[in-house]
Amino acid sequence: MKPDHPPICDYEGSDYQTTFWEHGKRQYEDQVEAIALKRLLPKRGELLLELGAGAGRNTTRYHQFERVILLDYSLSQLKLARQRLGKNARFVYVASNIYHLPFVPGLFDTATMIRTIHHIVDAPRALHEIRQALQPGAAFILEFANKQNLKAIFRFMLRRQSWNPFTLEPVEFATLNFDFHPKAIRKWLRDSNFNIQKQLTVSHFRVNLLKKLLPLKVLVGLDAIVQYTGNWWQLTPSVFILAQAVGDSPVAKSDGLFRCPNCRQSSLEEHRERLTCPICKNIWLIQDGIYDFRKSV
Ligand SMILES: [Zn+2]
Repeated sequence: MKPDHPPICDYEGSDYQTTFWEHGKRQYEDQVEAIALKRLLPKRGELLLELGAGAGRNTTRYHQFERVILLDYSLSQLKLARQRLGKNARFVYVASNIYHLPFVPGLFDTATMIRTIHHIVDAPRALHEIRQALQPGAAFILEFANKQNLKAIFRFMLRRQSWNPFTLEPVEFATLNFDFHPKAIRKWLRDSNFNIQKQLTVSHFRVNLLKKLLPLKVLVGLDAIVQYTGNWWQLTPSVFILAQAVGDSPVAKSDGLFRCPNCRQSSLEEHRERLTCPICKNIWLIQDGIYDFRKSV
């Protein structure tokens, strides 16, 4: 049977954390993202959902939350995150696809999705699914790759790029890698019952020559200042949005985290490293401390 979801970008077995972040000279990107995140995160919270957590690069930046659920499709990335963060009851590891989230509706007071939506084929559907997992009033911080960035605009004007950076449809510049138009993202957020509160533009100086000429500290400092122009225009390769969950929706009442992602009718029963749905009888395994919802057994 074909799965009821679009194709998924899977980082299984990837060395992304080391090659891209640790050895890839991405300190500038990492630091300017950290600044944007800090500016948008609530001062404190109970339960944060980190969508596309990968190997946990950002997880330690959520210290003001009592608990953090790291969600990723790749089991190996989550294992790496667990190694890096150590055994700690504050962190819960969940392998799942984003179109069938296994959570009780209205569970989270905050969610973040950084460098993740650019791998998602059906972004509106994913945003709708995320909204269901959030309480009314919850904060949602979304980072996306912006097709309407200066480099793309220049390349288009010089006819060195075929796709138009000003049109609303996403561009798939490599398999399962999408750049989005800010207007399209804002519309999808509103359609899924999110109110946009703030926008920060990030990585203004992602240009190799500048990175070579100017000290890291200077570039990061300058980026921090101009991030605030994001409320007025968005011409950077990366944009952060703070949105608030609005509209009528339930708030989770019980202590349990998980709801059956298959029939969606019941919370799950946990027993001996297994989660069982009492209604559709599907079973999911807990392996090495990671809840694996990718496939029922
Ligand atoms: Zn079920």
